[in-house]
Amino acid sequence: MPDDLPAAATAAQLAAIEAELKRSGGATGSGLKLVRNGPELARLSRDCFDYSPVLQPLLSGRLAQLVVRASRLEEVQAVAAACSRQGVSLTLRGSGTGNYGQCVPLAGGVVLDLSGLNRMRQLEASSGIVTVEAGCLLADLDRQLSVSGRSLRLAPSTWRSATVAGFIAGGSGGIGSLRWGFLRDPGNLIGLEVVTLEAEPRVLQLDAKASRPINHAYGTNGIITAVRLPTAAAVNWQQLVVEFSHWDSALEAARMLPGTALMLHTLCLLEEAVARQMPAIGGQGAGGCPVARGHRLLLLAAPDTLEILLHLMADLGGTLIWQAPEQGQRGLPLRELCWNHTTLHARAHDPAWTYLQMLLPQPEAPFLSALKQRWGEDLLWHLEGVRQQGCQRLAAIPLVRWRGAESLAELIAEVNQSGGLLFNPHAFNVEDGGLGVIDADQVSAKRAYDPAGLLNPGKLRGWSEQKP
Ligand SMILES: Cc1cc2nc3c(=O)[nH]c(=O)nc-3n(C[C@H](O)[C@H](O)[C@H](O)COP(=O)(O)OP(=O)(O)OC[C@H]3O[C@@H](n4cnc5c(N)ncnc54)[C@H](O)[C@@H]3O)c2cc1C
Repeated sequence: MPDDLPAAATAAQLAAIEAELKRSGGATGSGLKLVRNGPELARLSRDCFDYSPVLQPLLSGRLAQLVVRASRLEEVQAVAAACSRQGVSLTLRGSGTGNYGQCVPLAGGVVLDLSGLNRMRQLEASSGIVTVEAGCLLADLDRQLSVSGRSLRLAPSTWRSATVAGFIAGGSGGIGSLRWGFLRDPGNLIGLEVVTLEAEPRVLQLDAKASRPINHAYGTNGIITAVRLPTAAAVNWQQLVVEFSHWDSALEAARMLPGTALMLHTLCLLEEAVARQMPAIGGQGAGGCPVARGHRLLLLAAPDTLEILLHLMADLGGTLIWQAPEQGQRGLPLRELCWNHTTLHARAHDPAWTYLQMLLPQPEAPFLSALKQRWGEDLLWHLEGVRQQGCQRLAAIPLVRWRGAESLAELIAEVNQSGGLLFNPHAFNVEDGGLGVIDADQVSAKRAYDPAGLLNPGKLRGWSEQKP
């Protein structure tokens, strides 16, 4: 744990915060809800960090002392003002689906749940730019956009459960990254409305450049209350499952397809031993996808791609196993077998699985087979097609059998030595879960918007290290 964590709040500080919120509630007609103890407090203090056996012992049992649920901008300002005046730490929460303990309060204090702040404010007809409040669920936003023929460009596979601000502050990419790259790529975030953590909190309207340091900063340097995003024309994506008996052909298909003119929204490749652990897309029985008998390519493809795509796959020895439009489909959607949902389903099968995340070196095949040879059935390949700095690349989120911290560190070292670019999912601060380097702009934004360092303490290493 970082050694500069603030002390937990005293009973007097918490009572003063509650009294302030009550007073401000009279003025603003506040509907703030408070949770002081019990299972609800424990639930709202955690996220999905248990996918990491490294994070589990570090983060289990770290609880908020008070959870406040806000549904209006003025309420967020009231909470920020009260925490600032009392010098109590404040950790922000959307839906709590993060995997690295991003919204776990390391030092107690207050957790602010923003899931009630969830209105779509505006969809600009001429540009398709949407302004939406922080706590709106991504799937709800997509539903509202579809009325105007628009859709989100990027979404995590937790699209049904995650909030828009949680995705910006805690996520990186996912469904759509094949076409649109990652959230931090210029063009994927147009602006933010941010509340500062000060005695008199300011409400700032930040443009794309000013928003950049708050993008993927785990809520350490500003409270996002609204987000401006570009949207894309809505497509009725076709869900396709193509099976291959040979890994090399499946890998070739995954490398080749993103380089064609076919419009694809997601491309996920599972080696057979992973595919066999997945539940049936579309549900069990009639209409659902049959059990895997080979390596599987999962695709979301535009309807006009099908004729050509299926010929290309057949040329490589791929067989179409299952197909259904995404719209109106019942049961498990294909997108919930991709990205970290693959790990979720594998862990439901066997909780000894954990995972890594990396960008693969090119060519990919020698890297994949060298690691496979060395680690055998303890390392199972799950690849995702992505666009990285304008180039089509393959990322991997392999399943890794947990054999202890030493063995994991050995595997990580090997990935690094062999040219993989690792994003360690077993670290809880912004920098160590990314490229390991401090982003000075993120630290400057914290100085400007959270001068006392009260937001999500312990999660921005650059802040801890710059303090005297
Ligand atoms: C099965 C599974 C699959 C996943 N797949 C993906 C994927 O494909 N891509 C991906 O990027 N991630 C993925 N994730 C991680 C996570 O689901 C996403 O990043 C998601 O977008 C987080 O949204 P949330 O609302 O749950 O945020 P939370 O977990 O509540 O918060 C995430 C971070 O954002 C901060 N935050 C929340 N709200 C605000 C706010 N209003 N202002 C400032 N900071 C705020 C929190 O403090 C925290 O640091 C996956 C997780 C699971 C469990």
